[in-house]
Amino acid sequence: DAILRVDDIQKYYGNKGSLTKAVDHISFTVDKGEFLGIMGPSGSGKTTLLNCISTIDTVTSGHIFVEGQDITTLHGGRLSDFRGRKLGFIFQDFNLLDTLTAYENVSLALSIAGVKPAEIQKRVKQIAEALNISEVLSKYPYQMSGGQQQRVAAARAMVTNPAIVLADEPTGALDSNSSRMLLTMLTELNERLSATILMVTHDAFSASYCRRILFIKDGKIFHELNRGSDSRKN
Ligand code: ADP
Ligand code: ADP
Repeated sequence: DAILRVDDIQKYYGNKGSLTKAVDHISFTVDKGEFLGIMGPSGSGKTTLLNCISTIDTVTSGHIFVEGQDITTLHGGRLSDFRGRKLGFIFQDFNLLDTLTAYENVSLALSIAGVKPAEIQKRVKQIAEALNISEVLSKYPYQMSGGQQQRVAAARAMVTNPAIVLADEPTGALDSNSSRMLLTMLTELNERLSATILMVTHDAFSASYCRRILFIKDGKIFHELNRGSDSRKN
């Protein structure tokens, strides 16, 4: 069953004189547990598409359903509630808060959502074990290695148990070693924690970690690659 359904969305920028169709009639669905890549050259509309799904941007037309709920009609408190509960974000530069420990970085979203302290502790402990960061929870970002920071950022994205994890060019600023580590980690989130992941990239190496890839150009899907479940491991 689809956890995400993008239904014929368009996103225009500008006005009549100079109109950019950044997203031009895009439709697709993502099932629970998928690791989907959206690939295309710079300027093809990837970020715009992702921003519409993450509700950072509004669509010009069309609808986006997450777990059956049309998110294009959400406003105010319901919108921020949706973002906090249903979406996890993996950023290029980790985006950890420097003045907070790993534990505080990971638990912040739960505190904001009003989750009870005992429950917060339990969930942070669980996700920290799964991602192998239990021993760095009391450290500040500058005291951790790049790989540990990456895992803390992933723990932060996963701790709310989001419906979808969104990653926009997560390896864009990384060297090939760090890229490989991050992509391996996303694969683990997908396989071991059953995370549903949507990753945008212009990079074929990154996309090769995805089981299904949508290729977009000029705001349209022009090709879809479906590699089944086992092709990636070799
Ligand atoms: P990608 O992420 O694939 O590089 P983008 O979604 O950033 O592509 O951009 C798609 C198109 O929309 C490009 O032509 C870009 O210049 C344009 N665009 C993106 N954001 C804006 C904006 N805020 N205002 C005007 N045009 C934009
Ligand atoms: P990317 O390729 O990762 O999308 P860009 O450099 O294209 O990065 O865009 C960076 C930011 O600038 C994005 O938030 C995008 O929405 C915005 N942007 C891109 N093109 C335009 C534009 N023509 N006018 C205004 N904002 C733009």
